[in-house]
Amino acid sequence: MDDCIFCKIVKGEIPSFKIYEDDEVYSFLSIGPANFGHTLVIPKRHSESALSMTPDELGELSKRINIIAKGVKVGSSAQGVNISFNCGKAAGQEVFHTHAHIIPRLENDELTNWPEKTYAEGEAEEFAKKIRESL
Ligand code: AMP
Ligand code: ZN
Repeated sequence: MDDCIFCKIVKGEIPSFKIYEDDEVYSFLSIGPANFGHTLVIPKRHSESALSMTPDELGELSKRINIIAKGVKVGSSAQGVNISFNCGKAAGQEVFHTHAHIIPRLENDELTNWPEKTYAEGEAEEFAKKIRESL
């Protein structure tokens, strides 16, 4: 897509700190890291989010994420990593070209994961049923 910043990064029209590249995938440092070494992994072919990809396409992307995440962990001297996709504005997605975040995590880095809610009686069963029926 002509006006997509990540397509421009793939084409080299916008500079990036490249981590990895092959025929299908490009990976580079996030410009706004949650922790230093925060890396993005994107398919070269434009798609809006991970939910717009086919299972096979996402599978190919995941193969690279697995390899790159190990490198991010070691190269950033991290004790762990978070791997995530934001899918949709409500989920915090700001760039609408599919990207996985690989965020190095350090003991006591003070980044917080999301808070946990508690299901009322019967609610978990209801959610599980609705989700199963939507697959
Ligand atoms: P999201 O909120 O999931 O859409 O994440 C967008 C990510 O892209 C954030 O980590 C941004 O810091 C990052 N980002 C936006 N523009 C650039 C850019 N030009 N180069 C590198 N990372 C970028
Ligand atoms: Zn794009």
